[in-house]
Amino acid sequence: MENYPAGEGIHINSIRIKIMNHSISKISILKKNLVILAVCVISLSLNAQEKADLTKSETIDYSAWKADEVQMNKKIDSLLSLMTLEEKLGQLNLPSSGDITTGASQSSDIAKKIEEGKVGGLFNIKSVEKIKEVQRIAVEKSRLKIPLIFGMDVIHGYETTFPIPLGLSSSWNMEMIKKTAQIAAKEATADGINWTFSPMVDISRDPRWGRVSEGSGEDPYLGGKIAKAMVHGYQGDNLSKNNTILSCVKHFALYGASEAGRDYNTVDMSRIRMYNEYLSPYKAAIDAGVASVMASFNEIDGIPATGNKWLLTDLLRSDWNFGGFVVTDYTGINEMTDHGMGDLQTVSALALNAGVDMDMVGEGFISTLKKSLEEGKVNMEQIDQAVRRMLEAKFQLGLFEDPYKYCDENRAKTEIFTDENRAFSRKVAAESMVLLKNKDNILPLKKSGTIALIGPLADTSENMAGTWSVATKQEKSNSLLDGLQSIVGKKATILYAKGSNLDYDLEFEKNATMFGKEIPRDGRTDQQLLDEALAIASKADVIVAALGESAEMSGESSSRTNISIPQSQKDLLKALVKTGKPVVLVLFNGRPLVLTEENESVGAILDVWFPGSEAGLAISDVLFGDVNPSAKITATFPRSVGQIPLYYNHKNTGRPLGNKEGKFEKFRSNYIDERNEPLYPFGYGLSYTTFSYDNLKLSSDKISEDGSIEVSVEVKNTGDYDGKEIVQLYLRDLVGSVTRPVKELKGFQKITLKKGETKTLIFKLSVEDLKFYNYDLDFVAEPGVFEVFVGTNSVSNLKSEFELVK
Ligand code: BGC
Repeated sequence: MENYPAGEGIHINSIRIKIMNHSISKISILKKNLVILAVCVISLSLNAQEKADLTKSETIDYSAWKADEVQMNKKIDSLLSLMTLEEKLGQLNLPSSGDITTGASQSSDIAKKIEEGKVGGLFNIKSVEKIKEVQRIAVEKSRLKIPLIFGMDVIHGYETTFPIPLGLSSSWNMEMIKKTAQIAAKEATADGINWTFSPMVDISRDPRWGRVSEGSGEDPYLGGKIAKAMVHGYQGDNLSKNNTILSCVKHFALYGASEAGRDYNTVDMSRIRMYNEYLSPYKAAIDAGVASVMASFNEIDGIPATGNKWLLTDLLRSDWNFGGFVVTDYTGINEMTDHGMGDLQTVSALALNAGVDMDMVGEGFISTLKKSLEEGKVNMEQIDQAVRRMLEAKFQLGLFEDPYKYCDENRAKTEIFTDENRAFSRKVAAESMVLLKNKDNILPLKKSGTIALIGPLADTSENMAGTWSVATKQEKSNSLLDGLQSIVGKKATILYAKGSNLDYDLEFEKNATMFGKEIPRDGRTDQQLLDEALAIASKADVIVAALGESAEMSGESSSRTNISIPQSQKDLLKALVKTGKPVVLVLFNGRPLVLTEENESVGAILDVWFPGSEAGLAISDVLFGDVNPSAKITATFPRSVGQIPLYYNHKNTGRPLGNKEGKFEKFRSNYIDERNEPLYPFGYGLSYTTFSYDNLKLSSDKISEDGSIEVSVEVKNTGDYDGKEIVQLYLRDLVGSVTRPVKELKGFQKITLKKGETKTLIFKLSVEDLKFYNYDLDFVAEPGVFEVFVGTNSVSNLKSEFELVK
């Protein structure tokens, strides 16, 4: 029989609470060599007042939680002193919800573990009812009644779903992005969830990687701003409020740099590149106060992130002062065995020693750490430290005070998928759509005449929310067909035909339409589908082709080597263009695609990503000009896969092609068979109106070490519509002690300009903006000349220069 620690008493709010009988009463009666009875009485019997005091922990102000550390620490010390080793390891265990279903939870395997104190939290259970039921097991049946934490991948909204993160980032609208996180937090917490595995801030320069859809593109500066907006949106300024949620930045680190864009693949990168080009969004999330970090699947410097002490302790905790907890990714510990790091016991000890606090799904901690402790491979302080961090998180969430804090049926009924949230989602979606081409102003469309809507993505509400939309109710999203019909009503005729299947290849189609995100295969022949499409096209004034990827063609484990529109749809589009009618391509995609042919042939291209719950209405808003598009891409669109990785902030090389683009030059850095430049550069996106840039001025041509400089520019709306413009500022450090990128984003402003209106914008640059990590990884600004560029994207800019003087 196990001996429980005999905690004498615990101090809470300076009130000594006596733990009565907190010891094992062991009555053994030996009768004819038989143990007849062994009774264990474990009781935490407190009188009513004491119990009230124990459960009523003060509200912690998140923004100042360190100030309250003493109180929290005292309480946690007391609790820790009562815990057995098994209970401690239980707090570090995060199984997935598995077989929990309402009613059946009491008898499930998970329930048994919860009762035994072997579970610290669960994830991906949905509904207040179920979560309440499971929490009840923890707080009523487990010995120490420690509440569980409930996590979920609330990545881009909860039931009200917003555009996929790559789309959202294209809005460059930080207030709006923050509000999407606030709404997600509000809905998720109304449904019992108190921890989200978001934001995902992995920089990626490789659109073959399916998870580019979950991040904010290729730029570390913009990525950092978005990370901050999301963490603030989720966590608010007080984690213990019932409508804020604990956020988890992921995947730490460098997951987006997996070789060849193949998911879970090896990452190998110099420290100087990491520091200058990949780490800043994670750091921005930490600085914004994110309360948890998820370790990534990939290796870093030859050691998987999950077991990498340099990453999880030296960098994260010592250099960046992270005070929250670290969770592995799904079976991240176990996977280190396949990485070649040893058996489960070895890799579990490696993870704990590296700085992991919570083990997602793999149960390596709970099954092996006891043995490792006995063998001296880990020590008790490390285990206590990890447990402490988990308890702190629960404490900050207010779960000790009220374990059912996030389980309010009334909120679940009234605060989820509300009209207000859906209206906001529609607005956000429209502001995330990028107009890639608009020859002869085909767009906006008129709400009259006949519109032929054609394509396999036109009538599929299931695919509108995109990847990683765990909580969304797919059938409730409106499709493009729904949206167009409801907006035009009787004013115009909408004719619809599917035109083609998602792809010719049935197997591919199956892999691309999982998790209920079906696009049922049409049994007719390809020719029959095409004939029907051409027949309705012949009756129309304009063709809207809804083509691209299905939702599950991007996201986790959805890497592609061919990032074009699938062939069946390409052929359909060619046939539609051949009709001579104006064709608008409404493009659904979770990544930058190669659109070189489409860009040549089609009149207009509107990139709508996966717009979320209000997809159809939001796309219609933009197509008809009720919303003027203003988004700009945050990841470069290549001309061909062979150019990848392709990104705007590249180095110059010793043999740059310079401005001789378009002509092959021997012994220069270029291709025999392709240009260097992308199809659409970072920061690119059109509007129904046009903008001109003029009068770029600097307040000085010199900046001193503690000084700053103002950059001003005039931007004029020169077209026929009111519109929004994202004005971008880039810098180039011309001479450095290490090579510097040809351009780096250092500022942006999203402004609204009425038709004909001009605004003068001012950007303030300080020496901080000129800093980078040098060879010794010191963050420095080096004297010398800097070029400054201001413009409408990363290529078309006005240019000036200034000097940093010592
Ligand atoms: C993903 C994470 C996710 C986790 C839990 C993993 O496969 O990489 O992003 O948060 O599963 O669902």
